[in-house]
Amino acid sequence: MTLIDDRAPVTPRRLAVARGLLARLARAVLDAALPPLCGLCRAPVDQPGLCATCWSGLGFVTGPVCDCCGVPLPVDPGGPAICGGCAAHPPAFSTARAPLIYDGASKRLVLALKHGDAGHLAPLLAGLMAPVASGLGPVDMVVPVPLHWRRRLRRRDNQAALIARDLAARLGCRHQPGMLRRRRATPIQGNKGRAARARNVSGAMAVPASADIRARLSGARVLLVDDVMTTGATADACARALLRAGAASVVVVAAARVPAPGDGIRHMADPTALAV
Ligand SMILES: [Zn+2]
Ligand SMILES: [Zn+2]
Repeated sequence: MTLIDDRAPVTPRRLAVARGLLARLARAVLDAALPPLCGLCRAPVDQPGLCATCWSGLGFVTGPVCDCCGVPLPVDPGGPAICGGCAAHPPAFSTARAPLIYDGASKRLVLALKHGDAGHLAPLLAGLMAPVASGLGPVDMVVPVPLHWRRRLRRRDNQAALIARDLAARLGCRHQPGMLRRRRATPIQGNKGRAARARNVSGAMAVPASADIRARLSGARVLLVDDVMTTGATADACARALLRAGAASVVVVAAARVPAPGDGIRHMADPTALAV
């Protein structure tokens, strides 16, 4: 009698998939056995997310914002207005918005995601960003702001991509992390002002030359995703590269927005152009 072994051959890829499934299963068993913990202070909570104290510490963008880049405006202009930054240097993206102010618990949340082993916070942030992203109009693909490969190695993951993947699933559209890459490792933006930030990222973002990528991007409406938006220089550099490569439009959603980035000068030269 001949026995025919019709099992699929064990390849490294199949092994990796099996390991991934096992890890997910182990996590699901542990999650079911242990009470969920607050994503920030690790206090026990009824369901995955944040405890009531950490949740109440989150600062949401609620007041008037620049119609273009979404930065909170220091005074209510009484109608649609753009900030001084957008008036002086119109960004390549059409609109940018964020649900959170980068302050207090919101800042700790984003930093925990960025610097800790906190991939579990990505779904929480994506959940907050989804309604904001939906308000920016229909999109064809979700693209995260890329990290340079060296920084990605240090941080283990691109946090923007973790958020973007979850957000794309919520919005029911494709997550396309390969559409952009960082050509060079840009110094940390830190406390740089608006002009220095723009110089820092100028020319650093590129769409790979692959014909397949260019074809997918051609005419696409792109939702660009980042964790924190400060002056918008990084988002602007990404949007420029995407539009140059054939994208039809780029809108941006970040988890948190720095309230008054740049040189900190606030003045009202024109009621429709508030410099922040
Ligand atoms: Zn908490
Ligand atoms: Zn603006």
